[in-house]
Amino acid sequence: MNLLFSNDKQGQYPDSWYAATTPKLDAFPELTGEHRADVCVIGGGYTGLSAALHLAQLGRKVILLEAHRVGFGASGRNGGQMSSGQRVDQDTLEDSFGLDAAHALWDMGEAAKTLCRDLIKTHSIDCDLKNGVAEAEIQTRHLPAMQKYAEKLSRDYNYDQIECFEGDAFREMVKSPTYQGGMLDRGSAHLNPLAFTLGLARAAQLAGVTICENTEVTKVDQGNTAVVHSKHGNVRAENVVFGCNGYLGDISPKVAKRVMPINNFIVATAPLPDPSVILGQDIAVADSKFVVNYFRLSPDNRLLFGGRENYGYRFPRDIAAKVRVPMEQIFPQLAGIKIDYSWGGTLGITTNRMPAFLRISGNMLAAGGYSGQGVALAVLAGKLMADTIQGQDKSFNLMANLPQMGFPGGPRMRSPLLKMAMLWYVARDKLGL
Ligand SMILES: Cc1cc2nc3c(=O)[nH]c(=O)nc-3n(C[C@H](O)[C@H](O)[C@H](O)COP(=O)(O)OP(=O)(O)OC[C@H]3O[C@@H](n4cnc5c(N)ncnc54)[C@H](O)[C@@H]3O)c2cc1C
Repeated sequence: MNLLFSNDKQGQYPDSWYAATTPKLDAFPELTGEHRADVCVIGGGYTGLSAALHLAQLGRKVILLEAHRVGFGASGRNGGQMSSGQRVDQDTLEDSFGLDAAHALWDMGEAAKTLCRDLIKTHSIDCDLKNGVAEAEIQTRHLPAMQKYAEKLSRDYNYDQIECFEGDAFREMVKSPTYQGGMLDRGSAHLNPLAFTLGLARAAQLAGVTICENTEVTKVDQGNTAVVHSKHGNVRAENVVFGCNGYLGDISPKVAKRVMPINNFIVATAPLPDPSVILGQDIAVADSKFVVNYFRLSPDNRLLFGGRENYGYRFPRDIAAKVRVPMEQIFPQLAGIKIDYSWGGTLGITTNRMPAFLRISGNMLAAGGYSGQGVALAVLAGKLMADTIQGQDKSFNLMANLPQMGFPGGPRMRSPLLKMAMLWYVARDKLGL
């Protein structure tokens, strides 16, 4: 089974609201014949496109190979939340890696958001970028810790973009009886993820990158000159960048051991006659559940609501029915609302929820496993790989050198073991622990 093909149609975007409403690029031709490049990039999501764009800007000859269309993967279908920091909070980072590393990792998160904003501006990418992401808390007893965390970020990390709200003050912003309070991060943002990806692809093309779509990489031979194989063509390259994330399959066992695919699902409702019954401000929201619920409004007043996940190769048959359950629990006022679009996507997670930056060999780099926080970090990862190939970067090594276990079990056992572990946490969500 190959996740690249198990839920989607070859060479097509999923039936998402993004795909239905975002102007597409003309298709790029498939790779045929023998080619040479300084760098061959595999994967046309944020990681691969950012690496390719920055390498081309550094004067490298780059060929990017994408199995379907650019933005086919998680980058073209996600929740669009561009959050601060890392997926893991600063307290945990300080405990796990020490103060200096925790500060450097926070700074990387800030650099990632700045990079995205700069790229959007420089390349005039029209992707509905708007500031403001709230974290919604379900349990009143956790609110003091949230307040303390906001104070810590302000005091120790000089980050003063967060405001905490309790009770009705929060519910004026996020109109759900489920939430007891939360914090609004005005330095985070949300955007149309597919439009952002296609804007990066256009920028990469203009910078001179050769993009090939419908070109699945089937094998990579290591060596001083690596050979990247696809069905109808090969690329010989001095360097290879892997930006395949959850869709990697078995072209690099070293990366596969560290990055586990899981699936997550989103729906778009019919346009709401009055969107202010859901959100008092045009912000994105993610909640404190282990399987996070996340949502925001589209420019045409739909609720884009993400929640639920599964851990196999197949998406559920009826994604809309599955996601409707948490959506109506959180917003009972939407009971019975029509769902116009529903789709799933595959993302990569790691054992410690920190990105996996890997040097597969001297001339092959990989980044992935952003664990649900890749909108900004994957774009930065791509740039850091470009800088590393150019011999100019230290931040790639900072992340690559963090201790990170692989998933236990061989290729056959990893997924069932993960499923067992995740179901335990899902059960804790249900019990309100
Ligand atoms: C439903 C969902 C919601 C999410 N919400 C958010 C969010 O709100 N905020 C956030 O920060 N993150 C979110 N994420 C995570 C985020 O989308 C990812 O971390 C990010 O897009 C990773 O980018 P990438 O380029 O590494 O991977 P992808 O975008 O998945 O790109 C990988 C590409 O590689 C290609 N590929 C793979 N194997 C091969 C091969 N052998 N040959 C050729 N091409 C290949 C695939 O076709 C794919 O296009 C979400 C993810 C999902 C699925």
